[in-house]
Amino acid sequence: MVQKNQKRNTYQKKETPEGLWTKCPNCNYICTVTELRENVFVCPKCSFHHRIGSDEYFEILFNDNKYDVLYENIRSKDFLHFTDLKSYGKRLEETWNKTDITDSIRIATGEVREHHMVVGCMDFEFIGGSLGSVMGERLARAADYCLLHRAPLLIICKSGGARMMESAFSLMQLAKVSAKLSQLTDARIPYISLLTDPSFGGISASFGMLGDFNIAEPGALIGFAGPRVIRETIKKDLPEGFQRSEFLLEHGFLDLIVNRKELKQKVATLLALLKS
Ligand SMILES: [Zn+2]
Repeated sequence: MVQKNQKRNTYQKKETPEGLWTKCPNCNYICTVTELRENVFVCPKCSFHHRIGSDEYFEILFNDNKYDVLYENIRSKDFLHFTDLKSYGKRLEETWNKTDITDSIRIATGEVREHHMVVGCMDFEFIGGSLGSVMGERLARAADYCLLHRAPLLIICKSGGARMMESAFSLMQLAKVSAKLSQLTDARIPYISLLTDPSFGGISASFGMLGDFNIAEPGALIGFAGPRVIRETIKKDLPEGFQRSEFLLEHGFLDLIVNRKELKQKVATLLALLKS
């Protein structure tokens, strides 16, 4: 369970360097990073949703960008001594040195409009947002925090799937997190899943689709196996827009597609609906 006096880190808004330019990968529109940031990283011309990390999502969601980050002391370990192109231990070291995030998900708590809530947000830049035992443990503790404080939970998914270097330990996290989410259901505490580009593998096959509301950003690729694997397996061409959020909404897998500019308001409204 969560300790009441747990040490917390409060993060302040990051400064964007002036004069940096960026190009939209969808329509080639060029603007400054500052302009893009002011538009919550949605292309001002074509509404393409740029990939962003937990820092940006927390800033979009939490009132006045004020939040506490929890469970940062839980770190990955190479307990299987796994080696592919390099050893998992070395890969972890390199990733820690390269980024200022400590694993593929960050858990934060704070106020979103009138709701005190917990947001777990994946970071793709940390080994592809892969689901390892740290993500599982942080999410399990986040659920405990929600139970203790009767706070709703939002998980923002952005992941290539399970972390192969942790093998079955990684897959076990699916059952562990799903079990924790059912405790939230029993306690009638809302859970919303937000699927962003990309959400693949075990995530979309388990807790990514277990929300009281499963919502997604426009144009996000969401699926279990990727389109190339499916095409090679069924030996057929795939329909247009296959695995995009609009396709999933049409086929009943999603409840709602939410433009990032409306994300905060929509989350607050959905929570108000669930609470009433
Ligand atoms: Zn664009």
